[in-house]
Amino acid sequence: MINVSIRFYEELNDFIRAEHRRKQIDRQLNHRTTVKDFIESFGVPHTEVDLILANGISVDFDHRVNDGDLISVYPVFESFDISEVTRLQERPLRNLQFIADCHLGKLAGKMRLLGLDVEFHNNIVDEELVAAVVNKKKVLLSRDRRLLMRKVIDRGYLIRSQNPDEQIVEVIRRFDLAGQLHPFTRCARCNGILERVEKAAVIQLLEPKTKRYFDDFFQCQVCRQVYWRGSHLGAITSFISRFTSTK
Ligand SMILES: [Zn+2]
Repeated sequence: MINVSIRFYEELNDFIRAEHRRKQIDRQLNHRTTVKDFIESFGVPHTEVDLILANGISVDFDHRVNDGDLISVYPVFESFDISEVTRLQERPLRNLQFIADCHLGKLAGKMRLLGLDVEFHNNIVDEELVAAVVNKKKVLLSRDRRLLMRKVIDRGYLIRSQNPDEQIVEVIRRFDLAGQLHPFTRCARCNGILERVEKAAVIQLLEPKTKRYFDDFFQCQVCRQVYWRGSHLGAITSFISRFTSTK
């Protein structure tokens, strides 16, 4: 038997049982497990963890706990200087490609409206999600904590909210995407690239009201869906103000 203590910091406490939050938790283990497994035994997926200290020294997920260890576990920080230690989540995270699980269709559509690259299929299964992370280096967005605990998932985020508008705010904050949004560049329906088109080219597809009031049109190069400023702009503006005003 070995005795190991652990403490979770900041929002990682959201994942663990109320009686364990913000305090040292003492455990007896019958073998020297990896720190990844130890952390996840409390319900915290490793994708949420950016820094682990064992007795004040940074370690990676494969570190095996020792008798007497005090493990401190920190989430992804944006504003805390921990450059001297081993940060566990890859950065800089730029030009990210996401893949969303089958419960996150509305989120995927909203992200695409803001120009973010999000793969999504209604009937996608776990193995396809895992393959996209491993082979295509995509970032997995999921509400399935167990899925994010798989060791091969080295980039992902557990979506907390059930509300798509709150979900997109979570994603933009977590991956610091506020400066990388490009509305009207990507199709909400299929993730294809939009290109600006002349009104004359799409006029036969438009409702009479749209024909009358709008002039700026975009068309998906894959599924041919037409977008115009006005129909979608109001919704996009409200998403953006939602996170910029509370950041
Ligand atoms: Zn499309």
